[in-house]
Amino acid sequence: FADRRLVLVSNGEPYKHYYVDDEVKMQKLAGGLTTGLDPMMQDVKGLWIAWGRGEADFEVVDQDNKIRVPDQAGYTLKRINLSQTEKEGFYYGFSNEVMWPICHTFISKANYEEEYWQSYQKVNQKYAENIKEELKEDDLVWIHDYHLALVPGYLQAKKDPAVSMFWHIPWPAWEAFRTIPWRKEIIEGLLASDFIAFHTDLFVYNFLSCAKKIGAEVDFENKIITHQGSETKVKSIPLGIDYQSFAELAHNEDYLKKTEAVKKSYNTEKLIFAVDRLDYTKGIEERLNAVDKFFAKYPEYIGEVTIVQRVAPSRTEVEEYQQMKERIDKKIAEINGKYQKDDWTPIKYFYGSVPQEELLPYYKAADVGLITASIDGMNLVAKEYLAVQDNGVLILSEFAGAAQYLDSAIKVNPYHREELADGIYQALEMDEAEKKKRLKSAKEDLSYYDINWWRDHFLENWLDCYE
Ligand code: UDP
Repeated sequence: FADRRLVLVSNGEPYKHYYVDDEVKMQKLAGGLTTGLDPMMQDVKGLWIAWGRGEADFEVVDQDNKIRVPDQAGYTLKRINLSQTEKEGFYYGFSNEVMWPICHTFISKANYEEEYWQSYQKVNQKYAENIKEELKEDDLVWIHDYHLALVPGYLQAKKDPAVSMFWHIPWPAWEAFRTIPWRKEIIEGLLASDFIAFHTDLFVYNFLSCAKKIGAEVDFENKIITHQGSETKVKSIPLGIDYQSFAELAHNEDYLKKTEAVKKSYNTEKLIFAVDRLDYTKGIEERLNAVDKFFAKYPEYIGEVTIVQRVAPSRTEVEEYQQMKERIDKKIAEINGKYQKDDWTPIKYFYGSVPQEELLPYYKAADVGLITASIDGMNLVAKEYLAVQDNGVLILSEFAGAAQYLDSAIKVNPYHREELADGIYQALEMDEAEKKKRLKSAKEDLSYYDINWWRDHFLENWLDCYE
């Protein structure tokens, strides 16, 4: 697409500006999206449009809210300014209290406020207007995720400009999606894209089924939806990690020293590691129940294995999340009270977000990586853990998108306490040859289907729509 400009549109921005005393500083924001797309944007010098959330974001932009990032040699970032009311209605409201729970099939957690919907439409309209102001002939507009489902429709594109969408979270079955009062408007908004991709085949199938329910014509075999005279191609393209940089890090001397320090700081032979954003989709409570069961069923491991659980705060203003944190704190205290010894605590619990560099020594030090999401679009932690390991075992919920692609993990149903407890035991007991065999196959896949593959494969499939 060398002669066509790429316009990338997302809720989160790749760089934010903030104050340290009176000085403005810039920070690159981590996450799959930025890791994968920032290098490409620097290369092709595209335009990235996103919500400016940094406290000093609008101090540094020009009169069109634009800035070059990371510096003059980089690409243009155009920031969208949202008012407090828009943040509450569009972001905390509709995105986090309707789209998030429904797409993760937590119907009872959804809050279908009419005001949220009004705000979601208004902000999606605002995004579309910002895009239109910038559009040049032959631009490629790549929109990301569940915050922006209506943007393709508001652009009234129909192949001019070329519009695509990557949906980073699950797409649920119609039984869940149909509960949204504005289900038809949302799906029709998305169907104004020429190409839509999801992480897994299941999400693709669910989306095709929902499109059929609102009256679109669906070719399930070729995954093409025809609605109101235009076609949308749908495909599963799983997000990968920057495998190369993880693999290189795994041999870095400083990193290996930090890993050794982590190992030494725990008084046990074996270490199990889990890290999650605090969210009801991550299955943290189910995991804790299974850990309790594990120590009860396999008492020989009491004092022999330490579980390190990190939880990164998320959506802290929402009461639901505050209550969940209280239940987690209580359960951990209960398990520790039940099994601990003078010189050993079963679960070491950290609450707080840390830069990824600080997590990585834990990934490498851990004999077992434990992921028990009750549902997840992909789960990058699963892939990151395997990428730095050389003799670890991954326990992975069969309900994480990553499970479709990681056959070498021990797959578990996180709601099945005993199965999960047995999975932990199996992982701890696995012989070296078996571990090596599983890791080798996982690493081959992770290095091939990496972040560059995801990006290139997406662009290739999208551009095929215009042949
Ligand atoms: N992560 C981090 N610091 C933390 C916790 C998590 O940098 O304290 C990173 C982690 O390495 C991973 C991402 O956040 O890249 C989480 O992605 P995942 O797909 O597993 O879950 P999400 O939070 O996007 O639902």
